[in-house]
Amino acid sequence: MNEITTKEGVSMEPMTLDPHYDDDCIFCKILKGDIPSYTVYEDNIVKAFLDISQGTPGHTLVIPKTHVQDIFAYDTDLAAAVFARIPKIARAVKAADPTIIGMNIVNNNGKVAYQSVFHSHFHLVPRYSDDDDFKMIFKDNSGNYTPAKYAAIQAQIKAQLED
Ligand code: 5GP
Ligand code: ZN
Repeated sequence: MNEITTKEGVSMEPMTLDPHYDDDCIFCKILKGDIPSYTVYEDNIVKAFLDISQGTPGHTLVIPKTHVQDIFAYDTDLAAAVFARIPKIARAVKAADPTIIGMNIVNNNGKVAYQSVFHSHFHLVPRYSDDDDFKMIFKDNSGNYTPAKYAAIQAQIKAQLED
């Protein structure tokens, strides 16, 4: 087989999934068709459907078609396949309503980070104005950081990537 791989070893061949499901997972139930969803897109890798909460109109979830708990559990090929599909779905959500002027794409990992469904998913949250129903706060703590403190954190993270 004439498989193409990039420098980083990501396969460029169309991926096939051997899905596995968690019986207690609500998104696996949606994948199996046990629970209905307002699906806007699906293929062999992902399913995209309206989030029941509709944080803003058009709020869509993109999930892998296999049970993956969170971002830490992806292998590189699945990540490449899932992430590759997000821009096209995001463009469709945006194009569906001319009043959408931006979009937050959010992926929560862990309860502390607001993950409530432990099947990895990406929120596509269309934005309509400064005061639509969605808020994110990025606090600027840079006043508390010295160059040495930044460098120490940098070294700790880099050491984990270099193992
Ligand atoms: P999280 O808080 O884990 O980042 O996001 C989980 C999302 O799943 C929430 O925004 C919630 O509204 C949505 N959700 C939970 N149960 C269902 C369901 O049965 N159907 C749909 N379409 N969305 C759901
Ligand atoms: Zn699941």
